[in-house]
Amino acid sequence: MENVVIIGTGCAGWTAAIYTGRANLSPLVLSGTQLGGQLTTTTEVENFPGFPEGVMGPELMGRMQQQAEKFGARVEYKKVVEIAKNDDGTFTIKTDSDELQSKTVIIATGAAPRYLGLENEMELVGHGVTSCATCDGAFYRDVPVAVVGGGDSACEEANFLTRFASRVYLIHRRDELRASKIMADRVLANEKVEPVWDSAITEYLTDEAGEVRAATLKNLKSGDESELEVKCVFVAIGHVPNSQFVGDLVDLDEGGYILQNAHSTGTKTPGVFAAGDVADHVYRQAITAAGQGCAAALEAERYLADSE
Ligand code: NAP
Repeated sequence: MENVVIIGTGCAGWTAAIYTGRANLSPLVLSGTQLGGQLTTTTEVENFPGFPEGVMGPELMGRMQQQAEKFGARVEYKKVVEIAKNDDGTFTIKTDSDELQSKTVIIATGAAPRYLGLENEMELVGHGVTSCATCDGAFYRDVPVAVVGGGDSACEEANFLTRFASRVYLIHRRDELRASKIMADRVLANEKVEPVWDSAITEYLTDEAGEVRAATLKNLKSGDESELEVKCVFVAIGHVPNSQFVGDLVDLDEGGYILQNAHSTGTKTPGVFAAGDVADHVYRQAITAAGQGCAAALEAERYLADSE
């Protein structure tokens, strides 16, 4: 029987592991499909306190893992498919390869990229449609590409892609970016970035090899349609929380985010805590996820002490 199983290895998961590790609870951390979470698909993180020069996302996550393991956290590379409550108040966690028992569970599974929902979109992922500029940007040297979205992620991806692409079209459904001012100013000042306002992609067009060669654009104000020649579309329109496996142990809001109790990371089931982007649709920052991971660890520790 584990004291605490932490599901997820992003900022929330590793921080919960550092704190429960230091509390001698020997946490078991289940990695899911993406060890290190969303920051492993980003480049430089400029706003994580303590790094005035910035830090690369994968490096930050690697260092968090090292810190958690130093305090006795164990990591297993498994994906959780279901959690159920046992009669004695403990939990059975079913993974893709086995079953575990734990007294508490911290859900820190984060969120996954949202796509546009167009026909053939998912088949084209890896063939000219992607959500990760850091992963795929270097494949598109000296060719035009597009980024869809108007938030910080879209701006960050567009700026990053100017290192490789000949031109980066930033396609946004409105005529004003949602991104923070510093990110918006930076991207709009970049000569290689061309904003395409009030527009949406309605279709991906492919060549004989099945790779994206262009996209059909619709101007949402005039209704006019046009063809934009791009070799890759980077979709950066937000995320969907990874909460599909939680069953009825926790309540979800209409967007699928886990509902926490007031002023707590606890959920409707005592012993089940939620932290980070899987429960936060407001802040969604690395540092706020880390803060919630810390809070969840402290609450799990108290819950265990109270139940003994
Ligand atoms: P976001 O802020 O939610 O922005 C999503 C963007 O996609 C919005 O511009 C939205 O348009 C657009 N969008 C949503 N659904 C769409 C659809 N179906 N079709 C076309 N466009 C659509 O998401 P994000 O940029 O991923 O950022 C998430 C959080 O992470 C934010 O809190 C952000 O500040 C943070 N972040 C921070 C940094 C940084 O500080 N370095 C970097 C990346 C992300 P509307 O504007 O019209 O709604």
